[in-house]
Amino acid sequence: MKTVFIADRLYTPTEEIMNPFVVVEDGRITDVSSRVSKEIPSGATVMDLGDAVLAPGFLDIHIHGGAGLDAMRASASELPRLGQFLATHGVTGYFPTTVAAPLDATYAALERLADTIEAAQATSPANGTAARALGIHLEGPFLSHKRRGVHPPEYLIAPTLEVFERLWQAARGHVRMMTIAPEIPGAMEVIAEAARRNVCVSIGHSDAQLPAAQAAVKAGARHATHTFNAMRPLDHRDPGIIGEVLTDGQLSADIIADGIHVAPEVVRLFLRAKGIEHAVLITDAISATGMPDGRYQLGPITVDVKDGKCTSNGSLAGSVLTMDRAVRNVTQFAGWSLQNAVRAATLNPARSAGLAGLGVLAKGARADFVVLSSQGDVIKTIVGGQG
Ligand SMILES: [Zn+2]
Repeated sequence: MKTVFIADRLYTPTEEIMNPFVVVEDGRITDVSSRVSKEIPSGATVMDLGDAVLAPGFLDIHIHGGAGLDAMRASASELPRLGQFLATHGVTGYFPTTVAAPLDATYAALERLADTIEAAQATSPANGTAARALGIHLEGPFLSHKRRGVHPPEYLIAPTLEVFERLWQAARGHVRMMTIAPEIPGAMEVIAEAARRNVCVSIGHSDAQLPAAQAAVKAGARHATHTFNAMRPLDHRDPGIIGEVLTDGQLSADIIADGIHVAPEVVRLFLRAKGIEHAVLITDAISATGMPDGRYQLGPITVDVKDGKCTSNGSLAGSVLTMDRAVRNVTQFAGWSLQNAVRAATLNPARSAGLAGLGVLAKGARADFVVLSSQGDVIKTIVGGQG
């Protein structure tokens, strides 16, 4: 069956196409063209989306949960419901993200997440309506005590190849991203080994001074986790990790653009520094996302949520941000066009995390895309051509 979606504009996201049409067959995109230069193929079901904007589905490479489900605690049968919730916010792929927890609980969680990822891989594109878990982001246990945020200190451990190998085995090789503090003894070896296995090594939760951050990049780190949060602060005579993150063109970096974790003006500074090619939006969302205020779990951590702010003993503990709101916030905080804001939620995270063929709306790609209003509100999300 052939379906043609027509709309007002489309972001690939590097290009803007006016009066676009997208042809979908068996869950894949077989053509993206403009009606100005090409005829819509005959014999297809036409979905007219009016004055909407089409963009690739959002990719969230740092998310702990949503809809009441915690990525480390939910069962493999519950997790698809998280994917359904995320799809309502324009997300079509995500990295369930761990927090520091007892190692046995972490191994068990990684096995469940591997089950979820393999189940999604085994499903044909045309059979899904939920965002897919694409790989695992290990946020910890190799984090700085000083910059641990709410990760429990008793579960932080020094990086060793042995522990990394056990985590890798439990996840059956589905670790795609790892946040690590490069200044901890043992970190460089683990960074190099993880990079060799094509893990996107992301520096963060770190008190690193500039030389350690630079050494991490030499060892294979290529990204930075929630810039400014849980990092040694920037000082004009002691630039530290943030000095490296904001100035090194080899590094991409992400930010929580909820206006709570980082002031809007600093989000703007970050976006200027990293530019439209290297800035990545994440949510760091927890199970409370899409739920009423109250008390929730983030792995082993109890979190209180009030007025959109998540705290544990007074420290920020993740967010209730959604990707569509992060995109809209970037247009407001920094005056970025919707096209560039979309890029920071699609192509850029795909490139940072090595997700080949994702984050683009182009011929040959999976038919995972989002239908937006011109203001960036989600009208609907198409997963595998359905929605
Ligand atoms: Zn996190």
